[in-house]
Amino acid sequence: MFARLLQCRTGHAFTGEYYRAINKPERGYACTCGVPLQTRDHLLVGCPDLEQHRAPLYAFAPQLVVADLLGTKEGLQATVKFLKASGAFLKPTGEEAAPVDV
Ligand SMILES: [Zn+2]
Repeated sequence: MFARLLQCRTGHAFTGEYYRAINKPERGYACTCGVPLQTRDHLLVGCPDLEQHRAPLYAFAPQLVVADLLGTKEGLQATVKFLKASGAFLKPTGEEAAPVDV
């Protein structure tokens, strides 16, 4: 969960936005909902496919301000609940990302 939260905060995540940034078009840029470019903010606060899991986010920040969700302790706690419930930012296989060797 820590890795996914960190990926979400930094943007180094399994998203179309990141694949575009690292020039990996074969991985696809579009979201499962049909939006042509899947971004971090889209997954967190905009994707209709994940709406059913956003209750913890709305409880903390009814306006779903990304800076509040990812920039405050309470926002991060709400975001973790959303990540757990939704599976957002998982590797497309549905598995957790492997830890990176340091
Ligand atoms: Zn979407």
